Amino acid sequence: MLRVAVIGGGPSGSCAAEVLAKAGIQTWLFERKLDNAKPCGGAIPLCMVEEFDLPDSIIDRKVRNMRMISPSNREVDIRLDPLGYDDNAYIGMCRREVFDSFLRNRAADLGTTLINGLVLRIDTGEKRQGPYTIHYADHSGAGSTGEQKSLDVDLIIGADGANSRVAKAMDAGDYNVAIAFQERIKLPAEEMTYYENLAEMYVGSDVSPDFYAWVFPKYDHVAVGTGTMQKNQSLIKGLQKGIRERATKRLYKGEVIKVEAHPIPEHPRPRRVVGRMALVGDAAGYVTKSSGEGIYFAAKSGRMCAEAIVEISRNGAVIPTEKQIKSTYLKRWDRKYGATYAVLDILQKIFYRNDSAREAFVEMCGDKDVQKLTFDSYLYKRVVMMNPLQQIRLTLRTLGSLVRGQGLAPKDYTPVPSAVGRSEGDFLAEEAAQAVKAQSKDKATSKDKSTSRVS
Ligand SMILES: Cc1cc2nc3c(=O)[nH]c(=O)nc-3n(C[C@H](O)[C@H](O)[C@H](O)COP(=O)(O)OP(=O)(O)OC[C@H]3O[C@@H](n4cnc5c(N)ncnc54)[C@H](O)[C@@H]3O)c2cc1C
Repeated sequence: MLRVAVIGGGPSGSCAAEVLAKAGIQTWLFERKLDNAKPCGGAIPLCMVEEFDLPDSIIDRKVRNMRMISPSNREVDIRLDPLGYDDNAYIGMCRREVFDSFLRNRAADLGTTLINGLVLRIDTGEKRQGPYTIHYADHSGAGSTGEQKSLDVDLIIGADGANSRVAKAMDAGDYNVAIAFQERIKLPAEEMTYYENLAEMYVGSDVSPDFYAWVFPKYDHVAVGTGTMQKNQSLIKGLQKGIRERATKRLYKGEVIKVEAHPIPEHPRPRRVVGRMALVGDAAGYVTKSSGEGIYFAAKSGRMCAEAIVEISRNGAVIPTEKQIKSTYLKRWDRKYGATYAVLDILQKIFYRNDSAREAFVEMCGDKDVQKLTFDSYLYKRVVMMNPLQQIRLTLRTLGSLVRGQGLAPKDYTPVPSAVGRSEGDFLAEEAAQAVKAQSKDKATSKDKSTSRVS
C-alpha cells in the first residue's frame, strides 16, 4: 500500500493531502509551524472559492474595485459593476494564517495524519529512487528543539515553499526569485472604510523597478507591500518607503502591526519530478509574472499532482514510477498553464520596463475590453477569445498608450490624495500635531530611561 508524505502545510500541500486522503491513500502532512502566517497579499480569484469549496468565514474582504495608480498618480478604477459581473463576483482578500489553517485542518479531518514537525533531512535511496526516510523535529510536545524522529515513505510531494528542502534533496536545480516585503498596517475605522471593497496597485520606479506595489485590505488592517527581482534586493527597503510615501495620506494614521518578507519564485525549477519526489506550488516555481499570483496555482498544482498519483497508483494499490508521474502530473500542468505563464511574462517585460510604459499600462486599464479580459482571465482562469476587430482595436490602443505614456511619465512623485477627503491644510496641521506629540513622547521616554538608570 502506497505511503505518501506531503512536506509543507501551505495551500499546495494541504490541497494535495486532501485528495490523497480522500482516495484512501496513507498520507502524512508535515508543517513546521501550525500558526504560520505566510507573508502574502492574500488575494485570491473568485473561481478558487467554488473550486476549493472555501467558506465565507475565511475571506476578510470582497473587493469589487481594483484601483490602478500610475507613476504620475493617475488613478484608474476597474470596477466589476459596469462590466456586467453579478453581485456575487469579487476578488477575495484573506489572511494566510486563517486561510492555511482552514485547508490544513480540512485535510486532517479527511484522514491525513498532520505532523507538527520541521523536516530536517531526507535520505533518498539509490539514484534518488527511494524508499525515502524523512528525518524531522517533532514539535507537537513541549520544548523548542522538538523531538528527533523519522518516517519511511514511498513517495514525497514537496510543498515546502520557495526555500524547499525537498527540492534540495532531489537536486531540482535553482530558480531566480523576487524579494517581496510587506507591512501590515492597522488603520482607524473611518480610514479603513475607504478600503471596504477596494484594493490598490501602484506602479512606478519609486515603488518597484520591475513589479507593482499593493495596498490590499484585510479585516481591520491593510497589507502594504512591494517586490523586486533579486538583483535589486538591496533596494527593497527604499521601495517600501516609496509606496508608504505615495500612499502616505491614506496610511499615515496607521500603525504597523507586522513586518514580513519572503522570496517569490520567478519561474519553474529545472527539474520538478525526480524519482518519486514531485514539487508543487512555490517549491516548483508556479507564481505568475506580472500579477505575482501564486495561491491559486499552488492549490491547483497540489490537487493536480495528487490526482495524478491517485490515478497511476490505482488508489494506492501500486507504487508509481518517475516516468508515470512526469507523463501525468507534469504534462497536464504544462499543457494547461504553459501559455498563461508565457503571456504574463511578456506583459511584464512590456509594461514594467520604465515609467512611460507603466503610464501606458494604467491608461490601458481604463479600456473596457482590457478590463473584461483581465478580470475574466484572473477571476475565472479562463482564456477569453477576442474577435479580430477587438484585437485590432486593442493593438492600436496599446500602441497609442505606449506613445502617450512617454509624455506622462513624471520627474517627481507626489502622494495620492487623502482617503477621507482631508484637505491639504488639514493634512499638514494633523501631521504637525502628530510630530509634536511624538517629540514629547520621546522626551518623556528618555526622561523615564534616565530616571530608571539613576535609580
Ligand atoms: C509578500 C508576498 C505577497 C504575495 N501576495 C500574493 C497574493 O496576493 N496573491 C497570490 O495569489 N499570491 C501571492 N503571493 C504568492 C503566494 O504567497 C505563494 O505563491 C503561495 O503561498 C505558495 O503556496 P505554497 O503552498 O506552495 O507554499 P507556502 O505558502 O510557502 O507554504 C509552504 C509551507 O511549508 C512549510 N515548510 C517549509 N519548510 C518546511 C519544512 N522543512 N518542514 C515542514 N514544513 C515546512 C511552511 O511553514 C509553509 O507553511 C505573495 C507572496 C509574497 C512573498
